[in-house]
Amino acid sequence: MQQREDSRVVKLSVLATEAGTCSRCKLHEGRTRVVFASGDPYSDLMIIGEGPGADEDASGEPFVGASGKLLDKMLAFMGFARSEVYVGNVVKCRPPNNRKPAPNEVDSCKPYILAQIDLVRPKVIVALGATAGRLLLPNAFATFTEVRGTLVDLPSGVKVMPTWHPAYCLRLPAAKRDVETDLRVVCGILGKTPINAGSGRAQVPN
Ligand code: URA
Repeated sequence: MQQREDSRVVKLSVLATEAGTCSRCKLHEGRTRVVFASGDPYSDLMIIGEGPGADEDASGEPFVGASGKLLDKMLAFMGFARSEVYVGNVVKCRPPNNRKPAPNEVDSCKPYILAQIDLVRPKVIVALGATAGRLLLPNAFATFTEVRGTLVDLPSGVKVMPTWHPAYCLRLPAAKRDVETDLRVVCGILGKTPINAGSGRAQVPN
């Protein structure tokens, strides 16, 4: 058992090393650091964002900027510290000017995140925003609104909860109410109690 578990960390580390010199798409030309993942590879909960921004590109860690601060509050709402979950992104290198990753960039990077999911084997993935949603959800959708909040079972048994990206919530704070609704469902699956459940107030602060 221990040997098998150790191999998960070894395989993730081999993958991170490979990603560290990756040049499969043009994004590698502008990157400072490859942002592979952070957190607990044994967690039942995996968070998948879109791709690194300027702060993440500089530090090599996912979600360290303004979106990361809100992500921490979303996690705290569910009773998790950042270190207790596994956090990754669809693309590992920063798209210039924080634009959305292009389809060919997502395709080039896809094997990394799929391998990370296979190795971590979380019970639930929270897919933050449309880029992560499009990568993970089996059915195509026109707008993210159509699928947000709908829990999906992947063939592997992993459940995916698509919800708003924290960057969207920073632009539109009312969206946090939807995020709370979605995260309550995730809490139910993971046997967690959301903080201040039942008080009727928005619980993910700005
Ligand atoms: N937004 C993301 O999607 N990922 C990060 O790591 C930071 C901001």
